[in-house]
Amino acid sequence: MSGTGPRAQDSTCPRTPSPAGSAGPVRTCVGCRERDLRSVLLRLVLAQVATGAGEPRVVVDERKAMPGRGAWVHPTLACLDLAVRRRAVPRALRAAAPLDLTAVRDYLERADR
Ligand SMILES: [Zn+2]
Repeated sequence: MSGTGPRAQDSTCPRTPSPAGSAGPVRTCVGCRERDLRSVLLRLVLAQVATGAGEPRVVVDERKAMPGRGAWVHPTLACLDLAVRRRAVPRALRAAAPLDLTAVRDYLERADR
């Protein structure tokens, strides 16, 4: 029996992407000032209002891809309230207070359930 033994063919293993497990980018919550992963925080941006009337609105940037300044906050009403009390959102967005945060509050209340 002259068989060709199963050659140990070392397969070129596909390159594994750098381990994303370690940490990832970190941002500071404008409410509690704790640093946390960008992926768990909510990004708030100023909505571009064409009307020009009323207070500027802040909306949740769900895909975290909107241009411009963003404010990062934990997706909890507690942190949002803290941020409001400290006026941290307008400061982070370089906007004049007060800002209309109704959309953000609605978002959190809906997500909370
Ligand atoms: Zn927080």
